[in-house]
Amino acid sequence: MNIPQDKTGEGGVIITKLDDLLNWARLTSLFPMGFGLACCAIEMMGAYASGYDLDRFGIIPRASPRQSDVMIVAGTVTFKMADRVRRLYEQMPEPRYVISMGSCSNCGGPYWEHGYHVVKGVDRIIPVDVYVPGCPPRPEALIGGFLRLQEIIRQETIRDPRAVQQIMARRMTN
Ligand code: SF4
Repeated sequence: MNIPQDKTGEGGVIITKLDDLLNWARLTSLFPMGFGLACCAIEMMGAYASGYDLDRFGIIPRASPRQSDVMIVAGTVTFKMADRVRRLYEQMPEPRYVISMGSCSNCGGPYWEHGYHVVKGVDRIIPVDVYVPGCPPRPEALIGGFLRLQEIIRQETIRDPRAVQQIMARRMTN
């Protein structure tokens, strides 16, 4: 890859692994889908606003699942919404990632015992990569979740793609 000398102050050639290049591109341009389910979504919107400014990490929300690679499940997942959440996830292209934000999404939250209408953890309907605890988690916690996700992406390799790993894991559990 040629880099102009005045940008680096050094030589014009960088040698790296293809995995590192692809992972760097992916982890510095995460596009979360712009949707929320309940009160946690307000904190998520706060994280996008100028005070926390997720843009500086290359994190920019998109309005369509077709253009998104991260789903933030921010809020209570009711059984009525579960089908929609699953459908949106299936419309996202690979590689795709899921951040479960808040107690409701992680395990049912305050509805855990008596919430007959609430899914007790979104990981029962879609695979989750990062769990962000709290009720609600602060924007700093969501940023921490993104940093964790970036570390996961940094370890990926095209020799063993995530999509294939997930299909194999699903076969083992079924
Ligand atoms: S975890 Fe708390 S703040 Fe978040 S959606 Fe549930 S009740 Fe609301």
